[in-house]
Amino acid sequence: MVEHASQSERLFERARRVIPGGVNSPVRAFGAVGGTPYFVASAAGSRLTDVDGNEYIDYVQSWGASILGHAHPKVVEAVRAAAARGTTYGAPTEGEVRLAEEVTAAVPGCEQLRLVSSGTEATMTAVRLARGVTGRARVVKFAGCYHGHSDGLLAGGGSGVATLGLPGSDGVPASAVADTLVVPYGAVPEIGPDVACVIVEPAAANMGLVPPPPGFLEGLRAACDRAGALLVFDEVITGFRVDRAGASALVGVRPDLFTFGKVIGGGLPLAALGGPSELMSALAPAGRVYQAGTLSGNPLATAAGLAVLEQLSQGAYAELREKVTRLAAGLHQAVSAAGLPVQVPVFSTLTSIYFSDEPVTDYDGAVRAAGTGLYAPFFQAMLERGVALAPSAYEVAFCSLGHSEADIDETIEKAAEAAKVVAAGR
Ligand SMILES: *Cc1c(COP(=O)(O)O)cnc(C)c1O
Repeated sequence: MVEHASQSERLFERARRVIPGGVNSPVRAFGAVGGTPYFVASAAGSRLTDVDGNEYIDYVQSWGASILGHAHPKVVEAVRAAAARGTTYGAPTEGEVRLAEEVTAAVPGCEQLRLVSSGTEATMTAVRLARGVTGRARVVKFAGCYHGHSDGLLAGGGSGVATLGLPGSDGVPASAVADTLVVPYGAVPEIGPDVACVIVEPAAANMGLVPPPPGFLEGLRAACDRAGALLVFDEVITGFRVDRAGASALVGVRPDLFTFGKVIGGGLPLAALGGPSELMSALAPAGRVYQAGTLSGNPLATAAGLAVLEQLSQGAYAELREKVTRLAAGLHQAVSAAGLPVQVPVFSTLTSIYFSDEPVTDYDGAVRAAGTGLYAPFFQAMLERGVALAPSAYEVAFCSLGHSEADIDETIEKAAEAAKVVAAGR
């Protein structure tokens, strides 16, 4: 059944000897869906080829980092040219300035940008900055939102933390989360006078996709203003994916701080933290909140990011939105026709699939949907048919500009077959 696994199986066995669990990020191990992860040999556009020569239409796209599709010629050329000039210097470059100029020009309210190497670093620094400027300790986050793997933000995390069913993580002392308050997504919580910041994914995309309910983000903005707390939008997924100006512009709510990642690095390790100059100038060396990084603003990463941003016109988002709308409608039709319970929420260019009779509005709902156990067999039936979805019920499907209409129609066709197989096995 899993013919593709031979080379992958051998590599996974070798990997497990020298890498904990065989992978360098937990969800990649296929623990939640079973089977052996495919080891990738190469990829181009919408397609990925594994080491056994199997080809898949890829909806992981490096968890959203590849918005143009894999190995886009402009990105490859930009990285090649940058590499020839040296891969890292530990001194400032023009590329960093240009990328910061592009991002600040695109995102209202984001006047300055600090480049880092991962989303984890970006959110960790946002929290430190919020604490530094407010002189307060407490952080409010929402269950099912994922903000990277720093100690204080892991509690109630989505993504891999949800996939593994962990309440947080061993190795995080109680003191590290003593100031983290986890509340349900979609409802505006009480914000006390000790709260430094409220951090939120403006559209939650690490527990499947939960778009913000009407009034939620506006309510958070007002509650933060009343309490003197900062509002942080974690746009590591939504930034430059749902719109060139991000989710904040789409929903019309401006946070105090933004975090970006994934898309803006063009597939290389790069993320960022941004906001008004008045707040950002509290970061060292301008201010007294320390943050640093050997590879921060790496010249290959800024070259890749700039090459990607150059392609992301308003027209590109309209095109991507059209593709995602087509995919979501087709998936919904294909799966419900097989008699399975299904929800396919859409927020601009993001979508996900829940096997649920009711719309999923928070983490409890996402857990209930995952609890039907229908995602894993659907995932496997899709993979056997050459469609690679995320190996977890708690992730979204990332469509890229490299996905053609034919790719999407083929995906829907396979989904109809896969859903029948799953329905027959119930
Ligand atoms: C992926 C993600 C992160 C963490 O980014 P890494 O680069 O994996 O550290 C943080 N926040 C959100 C919303 C994410 O999706």
